[in-house]
Amino acid sequence: MLELSLEKSFPGFQLALDLMAQEGEVLALLGPSGSGKSTLLRLIAGLLAPDRGFVRFGGVDLTPLPPERRGVGFLFQDYALFPHLTVAENVAFGLVEARWPRAEREARVRELLERMELLSHAGKRPQELSGGEQQRVALARALAPKPRLLLLDEPLGALDLRLREELLFFLRRTLRETRVTTLLVTHDQGEAFLLAHRVAVIRQGRLVQVGRPEEVYTKPKDAWTARFMGHKN
Ligand code: ADP
Ligand code: MG
Repeated sequence: MLELSLEKSFPGFQLALDLMAQEGEVLALLGPSGSGKSTLLRLIAGLLAPDRGFVRFGGVDLTPLPPERRGVGFLFQDYALFPHLTVAENVAFGLVEARWPRAEREARVRELLERMELLSHAGKRPQELSGGEQQRVALARALAPKPRLLLLDEPLGALDLRLREELLFFLRRTLRETRVTTLLVTHDQGEAFLLAHRVAVIRQGRLVQVGRPEEVYTKPKDAWTARFMGHKN
């Protein structure tokens, strides 16, 4: 189980929320721009230190651990692929850092490239790929070290509609097959409904409502949530 209770302030912004997710659960984080979704993921990943609070996974306190020791895989908009490395080297990156033996590393990279239908691109640089392919590489890189927790910050955000659908297919299959506990930030409710077991609605750094997607949609807690979920009045 993932359990967290975190506080973080920036000038003019305050995040304070408690959240839980079951092992293997996909939890979507929905909220308007500036509500603190990315900040929350960065706190969980250990890229940002909280003012107060903790992150626990499977009973282990991750709070004092650096990002690379948290068993967390992430795909963030501002964590681009390494342009000077090949596709295969990008996917292998975390495995080299974690000192996987060469043979296991190569087998793991191959397995992921196969799953993401990227084998024929293994030797290319990221900039030679389409946006959708680059996101598949980023997803493969995040999954390579077999994280127990996957953090996805608007993984489909920058893509056009056709590529979104294509990546959605890979994402859905991957989440089903690996059953990795996942926090998925999205502003697309369709995506949340399709991928997530539960959704958490966040507003101004606070948790407004958490529940099954259809529950939150049909029984929004207040007028703001109703409007946010697209109800007309
Ligand atoms: P979201 O991902 O939901 O759009 P963010 O987590 O990126 O929201 O940002 C939440 C708020 O925190 C915003 O007001 C943003 O300007 C502020 N913020 C985020 N990161 C920093 C930072 N490193 N320094 C100062 N303010 C920040
Ligand atoms: Mg964000």
